[in-house]
Amino acid sequence: MAPVIGVTCDGDLENRRFFLNRAYIEAVSCAGGIPLILPPGPVDLVDRYLSIIDGLLLTGGGDIDPAFFGQEPREGLGRVFPERDEFELALTRRALERGMPILALCRGMQTLNVAAGGTLYQDIAREVPGCWQHSQRKPRSHPHHTIEILPETLLAAILGPRARVNSMHHQAVRDPGEGLRVSARAGDGIIEALEGTRGSFVLGVQWHPEELITRCPEQRQLFQHFISAADISTPCRNPGY
Ligand code: MN
Repeated sequence: MAPVIGVTCDGDLENRRFFLNRAYIEAVSCAGGIPLILPPGPVDLVDRYLSIIDGLLLTGGGDIDPAFFGQEPREGLGRVFPERDEFELALTRRALERGMPILALCRGMQTLNVAAGGTLYQDIAREVPGCWQHSQRKPRSHPHHTIEILPETLLAAILGPRARVNSMHHQAVRDPGEGLRVSARAGDGIIEALEGTRGSFVLGVQWHPEELITRCPEQRQLFQHFISAADISTPCRNPGY
């Protein structure tokens, strides 16, 4: 049976709406998953949500409130939505405890890292001298910079030693959290991917593979590996016994 993938979404408190780019949903569906959107909500719903999904896709969006990783806000911090942070951090911590497969994209990788106790740069242009341009000024579907993937990592097994990726972030992982290791960097040292060290499928990437699938078909493999991991970890629910 196709695995159910919880897909987090963004929101706009002032205009009272939730939203999500369709590319995430299409990427999950094309890889054989059933997407289920999880809007930010009360933290006490987290375990109920986790009981009905087989994998967790943490999506992109605004900045994470630095209060969640022990920093005061600095100049350069962008829009924050603390309710979303609180909900997704709780969801991610519990998913990690359960060994649930997680794919974390862009802000999602930052959420994964903060949930594991790591820290972020609030604005790399201000905090990392000499960093490359990571907020591309071209369509989201175009690769923008190169990343070097560390050997003997899950990501290297999926994409090989190097990739061209898009880049729509101004924050980045500073110190990886517990149970996570760096699996790719850009040439300026910025961390571009993290993965879990505890056996279950946990992968975070700083780019947006869901937007690259047409131009860089190898990026589809990220979703296929994630959905396969979610499929394997699904308890048998086949009613045909
Ligand atoms: Mn980048």
